[in-house]
Amino acid sequence: MPKRHIALTEKLQDYVLDMSLREPVLLRRLRQETARLPMAGMQIAPDQGQFMALLARLVGARRCLEIGTFTGYSALAVALALPPDGRVIACDVNPETTAIARRYWAEAGVAERIELRLAPALETLDALIAAGEAGRFDFVFIDADKENYDGYYERALRLLRAGGLVILDNVLWGGWVADRRRTDPETEALRALNAKLHRDERIDVSLLPLADGITLARKR
Ligand code: CA
Repeated sequence: MPKRHIALTEKLQDYVLDMSLREPVLLRRLRQETARLPMAGMQIAPDQGQFMALLARLVGARRCLEIGTFTGYSALAVALALPPDGRVIACDVNPETTAIARRYWAEAGVAERIELRLAPALETLDALIAAGEAGRFDFVFIDADKENYDGYYERALRLLRAGGLVILDNVLWGGWVADRRRTDPETEALRALNAKLHRDERIDVSLLPLADGITLARKR
């Protein structure tokens, strides 16, 4: 079978970043501070943040949801791409990492655009649905505990308007989704969800081998 994807060597990856990354200084500083944390692997790649900001603009996003905020890089990247009246509801359960997030959001001057909800995200999403917010969001980023991804995804679809976008992170899970010997609950959850989205008639879908794999799903 002919190769249809170019192999991304380290040198070529550097070139891609050199030729496309426009990371604001503050985001770079946040990334460097986060890199010193023990959970640094949860940080999204800077080119992914830039791509998400572009997608937010492409869908004309004003109301965004984020499930899994960590130290706030993705929420900040997206918030900076929104119009002044744009809003991000950021869901997380960790007061320590999100304290770093709040500090950078304030310094970037977008603290009023981002509302942090420190609670299990399923509860926050159910509360939004109960409050009549279904169909009122433009953009959702899912990047939290993998075993709840399907629950997040189903609620995200309800909260999105038609034409809204949901982005799911880590869908290739270090390649383990394609390795049948891996049967841990996180890998199985992602594998089942990937298969479900492939068949899901409620969305237009694309699984991109960017970073650790991201799926774009547009609500029909
Ligand atoms: Ca992630």
